[in-house]
Amino acid sequence: MPELPEVQTVVNDLIAGGLIGKTICGADVFWNKSIGNLTSGEFSETITGQIIMTVRRRAKYIIIDFKSAVHLLIHLRMSGRLIIIPTSVETNKHEHVILHLNDNRDLRFHDTRKFGRMILTDKPDTILGNLGPEPLSADFTVAQFKTILKSKHRQLKPLLLDQTFIAGLGNIYVDEALWEARLHPQKIAATVSPKKAADLYNAIRYVLQQGIDNQGTSLGNGQSNFTSAENQRGNNAGNLKIFRKTGHLCPRCQTKIERIIVGQRSSHICPKCQKA
Ligand SMILES: [Zn+2]
Repeated sequence: MPELPEVQTVVNDLIAGGLIGKTICGADVFWNKSIGNLTSGEFSETITGQIIMTVRRRAKYIIIDFKSAVHLLIHLRMSGRLIIIPTSVETNKHEHVILHLNDNRDLRFHDTRKFGRMILTDKPDTILGNLGPEPLSADFTVAQFKTILKSKHRQLKPLLLDQTFIAGLGNIYVDEALWEARLHPQKIAATVSPKKAADLYNAIRYVLQQGIDNQGTSLGNGQSNFTSAENQRGNNAGNLKIFRKTGHLCPRCQTKIERIIVGQRSSHICPKCQKA
């Protein structure tokens, strides 16, 4: 599933692709669940004529702000992709929503597994309002992180995956950050020492920024894999130290990496660097 660095990469591509300032001059919806509760008629009618003002990210959402009070919130979930492509290019069966731009190009929502959503709303806070802080923002300080960590009697792994605690992290970057900080995924947040909390804060920011700098992580070769809006695979997989490296050697201490289950999610740990 795309996490913060992958979603940021898509946003960067959409901006570089010249989306800002374009007008939506029509929409086709081929899979109604992709647009949430609206009918395809309501969706098309509302979005047609909208002028794109900004494209940005909040947590794992791509947000397109229109000149009116309407916003399009896009969550890629498992396999969603956004593609800017000339309208003349034939559509394929995985393109469930097509927005026609006023420059003979389309913004197409391609989603093999169909869990992704494009939600058109004039009340974005009903969806974005409960999200936790952005880990890379300047406002998110180590002091703030220490305070919120201290208040939680939950295991680190599920806590860091909780989008209301901190926004944008998923399985890949949580495992990588915990390894960097030498913390076990089952450790209770409130019991993390101030020094280790600072290590974790720095590790989270480090792995996310590295992911963005490398245009995201693509794993394997499946069609549901992450590719950017420019149809590029991310280059960050080579920087992963622990995620899906079961049986490989820890790059720090050469102990065999293990896969354990924490809160129903698989986690990858070095049993020596990350003591329970
Ligand atoms: Zn190790």
